[in-house]
Amino acid sequence: MRPETKALLEKDRNTVFHPSTHLKQYAHGEMPGRVIASGKGIRITDSEGIELIDGFAGLYCVNIGYGREEMAEAIYEQAKKLAYYHTYVGHTNEALVTLSDRLINMAPGMSKVYYGMSGSDANETQLKIVWYYNNARGKPEKKKIISRDRGYHGSSVASGSLTGLPLFHAHFDLPIERIKHTMAPYYYRREDSGMTEPEFAQHCADELEKMILAEGPDTVAAMIAEPVLGTGGIVPPPEGYWAAIRKVLDKYDVLLIADEVVCGFGRIGSDFGSIYYDMKPDLITVAKGLTSAYQPLSGVMVGHRVWEVLEDGTDTWGAIGHGYTYSGHPLGAAAALCNLDIIERENLTQNAATTGEYLQMKMKAAFADHPLIGDSRGVGLLHALEFSPDRAHRSHFDPSLKVGPQVAAACLEQGLIARAMPHGDILGFAPPLVVTPNEVDDIVAKAKVAVDKVM
Ligand code: PLP
Repeated sequence: MRPETKALLEKDRNTVFHPSTHLKQYAHGEMPGRVIASGKGIRITDSEGIELIDGFAGLYCVNIGYGREEMAEAIYEQAKKLAYYHTYVGHTNEALVTLSDRLINMAPGMSKVYYGMSGSDANETQLKIVWYYNNARGKPEKKKIISRDRGYHGSSVASGSLTGLPLFHAHFDLPIERIKHTMAPYYYRREDSGMTEPEFAQHCADELEKMILAEGPDTVAAMIAEPVLGTGGIVPPPEGYWAAIRKVLDKYDVLLIADEVVCGFGRIGSDFGSIYYDMKPDLITVAKGLTSAYQPLSGVMVGHRVWEVLEDGTDTWGAIGHGYTYSGHPLGAAAALCNLDIIERENLTQNAATTGEYLQMKMKAAFADHPLIGDSRGVGLLHALEFSPDRAHRSHFDPSLKVGPQVAAACLEQGLIARAMPHGDILGFAPPLVVTPNEVDDIVAKAKVAVDKVM
């Protein structure tokens, strides 16, 4: 290791509190660190000069790929002109107005966009909007939120409670009250293996209805869900799922919040996952792909029927008591606009559809018959390999073997970043939307070597 890298990592171990990290092992040098120095296209390079294919686009966010000078220039030009002004009480900036107009035109049924910095804070805003909405409608009891097991919606207090993964609850005293979790639409792990996909989809909707009835329909305000379960295992919904869910929600006057933090802006070959699956959401959360992570920016898109009630609420109660210093930050808006220009000019959403289909086909061809791969699934440029010691019975490996992390480490040795998902033996792939079929070949070939090595 170069002395400069060693010194940097040492300082890092002494000063940085890293997310999702075993703090003691890292501080004591028992697990490796890596200094990421630069990136270009789908590759990043570390301070040792090692180049890696980023098969997960950072945290499925660097959708236009690394090293886009055009993005740097757009942010620089905006910073020179106006680096910041707040957006409270009617203040605005040109980049923000242009962006909002564009977003509203992309998302059918949406009326306004509220801005934040991260997916977590956007989902916190969603909850406050939903609660305010029902107070303004004279339904103060209607406050519970239904999320799903394996859902991921962030890691702050409320968004971490929405998240349906034990790791994000344990030892933090989460989830908070008012937040309930219904079953994940996880067809591969269905209990009754005789069920067809549409039958299983209906079963999920029936379970949701049971929960609403048990809690009391007058107490349930909204359901939040990712169009495709992401961090919980990259699980596309079974056929018919969203239509069946929407029907139940409509029956009990329950809003639907589509968390598009991963799916939004092209990842599955459509502008939004909710369009792809015809979810008809009342509210939409966006982040990540909105700027391809060149700036932190998130958005809460509010549909017409909710917006009207919010407006009426302020008639009664005065200005809405919700705001972040950085809501509508001009640098974020400038980055988002340039990012959307690039996606449009280079047809990246279309590329996610066609190269995504190629990725699904190549992965299935490489792994579908592998004795230790239980499931190879995905949509667009999202794919998961789920490991099982006994394919026929869909059994689990002993968790202490840490099969997912082992295969991820073997991928790294091949020069490929794939993500060991935090729950279960699942390896995730979500390359930048600029990935080419040749690069897909390379990703699949490297993954194959890695899987064969560990198994
Ligand atoms: N929602 C979804 C679907 C996500 O995947 C994530 C992050 O991975 C979040 C929300 C939280 O976003 P952030 O990490 O920016 O707070």
